[in-house]
Amino acid sequence: RDDYVLRNPKSSAQLAQAAKSMPGGNTRTVLYYDPFPLAMARGEGQHLFDVDGHRYVNFLGEYTAGIYGHTDPHIREAVQNALANGVNLSAHNTLESQLAAILCDRIPSWDMVRFTNSGTEANLVGIALAKAFTGRSKIMVFDGAYHGSVIAFAGGASPINVPHDYVVATYNDPQGARELIAQHKDDLAAVLIEPMLGASGCIPADKEFLQVLREETEKVGAVLIFDEVMTSRLSAGGRQALLGIMPDITTAGKYLGGGMSFGAVGGRADIMGLMDPGNPKGIPHPGTFNNNVITMAAGIAGLTKVYTADVAVALTKRGDRMRDGLNALAREKNVAVQFTGLGSLMNMHPAVEPVKTPQQALGCDGRLRDLFFFHLIEEGIYQARRGLVALMLPVQQEDIDHYLAASGRFFDRYGDL
Ligand code: PMP
Repeated sequence: RDDYVLRNPKSSAQLAQAAKSMPGGNTRTVLYYDPFPLAMARGEGQHLFDVDGHRYVNFLGEYTAGIYGHTDPHIREAVQNALANGVNLSAHNTLESQLAAILCDRIPSWDMVRFTNSGTEANLVGIALAKAFTGRSKIMVFDGAYHGSVIAFAGGASPINVPHDYVVATYNDPQGARELIAQHKDDLAAVLIEPMLGASGCIPADKEFLQVLREETEKVGAVLIFDEVMTSRLSAGGRQALLGIMPDITTAGKYLGGGMSFGAVGGRADIMGLMDPGNPKGIPHPGTFNNNVITMAAGIAGLTKVYTADVAVALTKRGDRMRDGLNALAREKNVAVQFTGLGSLMNMHPAVEPVKTPQQALGCDGRLRDLFFFHLIEEGIYQARRGLVALMLPVQQEDIDHYLAASGRFFDRYGDL
């Protein structure tokens, strides 16, 4: 920690300056950490350069939104073309329908889609749709879930959550969920779930658990919503395509907008039809930037020219190999560390028992996560303080090899920590 402070005087000064006009010098809580977060000056390819001049390989990948890296030429060209044709057109444009068609082709459960500016908003709209469609009020969510800044359930409901009538169930507990769904069957509008808990530490849902949710919601006429804001990258069609489980509504965002501000909510045509402005009973969904040309253009370029279905398969395999490699290394060095996750998404946990619940992840020694984080910073590797890795396309095999070697050096010192 002392080394960190000495090595990063400009990042420290940057936070002090920012704190004059932003609370804690921050406008995005997840990026803050003690004693002060690094401030980045610029990015190029897979690299970040901080204000003190250090170079890092970015293994955080903007919490999954940054799949294309910092300077992808196709994204850049698309954004420049959009700029050249003028922004803020104040009207329907020709790009929004292209992006919508591409996405409905890719995501199995999307007959139709609407755009928002964030994953948070996509989930808020998804909940509104489910309530309007069913005429019911209760929303089942899961302990440890994160669906956005105002819909979060790690360690209970957040005080700034939008006050829906939530029923909080336990993740990966099919019997518990079955009972709760039956108990609330007449009032239950939706079950909202991340197919892999992201913010709680990359904990995948068991397939059987998701299948139970699919069956039970269908029985009682509730809407099943998959929040694939993080998991949509696991294949062209997200985790639902890999599992062959079809929710009624899927929310997404992150990289699908080419790395620009984005969210999307899509699903069955009969549910999405509630948002047809020609429908006299329709529910309105305005939003100044929903169809902004920069995001639309970047999204189209990213999905058609860069993150094609084949590339998605390859990135997922690459992530699987990296995680397997890290777990093998931890076993070989005999340290109580494991890396959970799916494909290109993974999270380090200082634990021996397989981490299957958010409670287990929370119970791990946070100081070891911190030491790992600061060790990696010293090794020129940037990731989330909480241990999240989200691979970006420009990250090379040699970068991954370096991550493994750096982790090995940490594990070697682990016994002394
Ligand atoms: N849902 C999940 C599963 C997420 O991981 C996130 C963001 N990390 C969100 C929703 C919210 O998305 P946004 O930050 O774009 O509002």
